[in-house]
Amino acid sequence: MSQTVRASSADRPQTRDQGRILLITDDPATAAYGAALEGAGFAVVGVAGGAAALVSLRRTRPHLVVADATLKGIGAEELARMLAQSQECVPLLLIGHAAATVLRREAAMTAGAFDYFALPQEVSLLVQRAAQLVGQKQLTDRLRAEADRDYLTGLMNRRRFRTALGQEVERWRRYSLPCALLLVDIDFMKRVNDTHGHSAGDRVIRHTASALVELSRDNDTSARLGGEEFALLLAGAGDAQAYAAAERLRHVVSGTPVEGVGTITVSLGVASCPVHATHERTLYAASDAALYRAKDEGRDCTVVAPLIGAAQTAAV
Ligand code: GH3
Ligand code: MG
Ligand code: MG
Repeated sequence: MSQTVRASSADRPQTRDQGRILLITDDPATAAYGAALEGAGFAVVGVAGGAAALVSLRRTRPHLVVADATLKGIGAEELARMLAQSQECVPLLLIGHAAATVLRREAAMTAGAFDYFALPQEVSLLVQRAAQLVGQKQLTDRLRAEADRDYLTGLMNRRRFRTALGQEVERWRRYSLPCALLLVDIDFMKRVNDTHGHSAGDRVIRHTASALVELSRDNDTSARLGGEEFALLLAGAGDAQAYAAAERLRHVVSGTPVEGVGTITVSLGVASCPVHATHERTLYAASDAALYRAKDEGRDCTVVAPLIGAAQTAAV
């Protein structure tokens, strides 16, 4: 049976940029090469056998996987296919005791790995190639994180929010976990800009963003959708919780004046899945319609969307 064959170095102190490598092998002799990778400055975050590889992969989030080409349980080809399909795109290198013939290297690349190295002869080549691939993965991760963020506030942007909304509604479909969407719009933002200038307006936007951050928990998504509009997606929250969160957020925003501007307020629309909508598009539309009503009702307030049945009855 596959098992962890050597203690992980995950507990040791690591610098932020240290590359993480997951070594997948059933063979203790190959596992010993983890020391060579550690010697080169990488953190070998786990040494797992074939069947445990999938769990380790999720748990350790490596920048590179180095796998034994003769792996039992899960084959190298299957592993390569799985890595290629995952959104993380973690690169794979194969290693083994057999000679690194052109045929063997070609087979590794055809399977989806970046190369094959024969041990112990090519351990220094393995380390060099690992350094290149880890560096590239770290760069891709950084660029990807930046592409998901709003420059002014550091919150998630609309693109990332859309993905999160889809995932939350999917979680409800699969596991019956509710979720709620708060849409937030700053009141009289144009007037703030006209009266106090654009940089004061930017401070108002950042002030609102930090209120969202203060209110959100680990699995929530706080996003700036554009301009002076924000979203807070609450994972696992029902309608009552969502309303309470919206009111807390409203009070946090108006509770502290913004430097050079004074007190500002926001209007909020709230809708939750499944009581107000059961699809990402209708959930967004329900929350947006509620926000529109909040503006209509005089701003600085929270409006909750009508229940699914009630909306249909009202429309009849
Ligand atoms: P309401 O209470 O109805 O929401 O009124 P409002 O003035 O907030 O709404 P409106 O949509 O008319 O105006 C939005 C303003 O937000 C206009 C725009 O200049 C300002 N705005 C959008 N993005 C930014 C930004 O990045 N920085 C600053 N300072 N202002 C922005
Ligand atoms: Mg607006
Ligand atoms: Mg506004």
